[in-house]
Amino acid sequence: MYIVGNWKMHKTAKEAALYIEAILPQIKGAAAQVYLAVPFTAIAATQNSSIKIGAQNMSDALQGAFTGEISALMLKEAGASFCLIGHSERRHLFGEGDELILRKVKTALTQGILPILCIGEKEGEEMEEVLEKQLKGLSGTDGLMVAYEPVWAIGTGKSAEIDHIQKAHRFCRKFLGKKVPILYGGSVSLENVAEIGAMEDVDGVLVGGASLNPDSFAKMIHQLRKRK
Ligand code: PEP
Repeated sequence: MYIVGNWKMHKTAKEAALYIEAILPQIKGAAAQVYLAVPFTAIAATQNSSIKIGAQNMSDALQGAFTGEISALMLKEAGASFCLIGHSERRHLFGEGDELILRKVKTALTQGILPILCIGEKEGEEMEEVLEKQLKGLSGTDGLMVAYEPVWAIGTGKSAEIDHIQKAHRFCRKFLGKKVPILYGGSVSLENVAEIGAMEDVDGVLVGGASLNPDSFAKMIHQLRKRK
């Protein structure tokens, strides 16, 4: 089982280092593999031996005149082993489209960064139709993870119903095969993480707001059991 925290634009490098110091003793012996997607400036400061550290976005290009962008090589050298790609906030606040996102996934794969591709429908959209579009070009690809995050469940305190999650994950599983871990994200909390994590086609969770406090995130991590 995987649990990925997404800090978004929170925590300076100093605050991030204090978080790592606070959480490490609390997650000893946890069954889940823990990942944290931190701001670029906190990647170096959060290096440790238990939690995989990654970024929240990267360029599809390897280098060049792209002011403000960051490359896979730069992330790797700073200590990132994975990168969230196509998070709903990147798609909807920064206008990233499916073609650019697919290029980013391919760049990450060739540069040795594990891509965690985020997908999900907006309120009122047909789930399978949207997921099919967002997964286009990835059938038969492995070496990535996918996080199903319905947009209306992100940061709202209202996670998707169990049946809906199961249906979406089954659809992704059919499309991607058994080797690609499929995570659920969208208002995962200490209250619902055990139930969501125990679902048949859920290989882990992506947690935004509830990953910011090391004490409660540690408790969430311990709620996830090893898959039999
Ligand atoms: C996210 O950032 O991807 C997310 C799911 O946020 P939250 O857990 O706060 O809904």
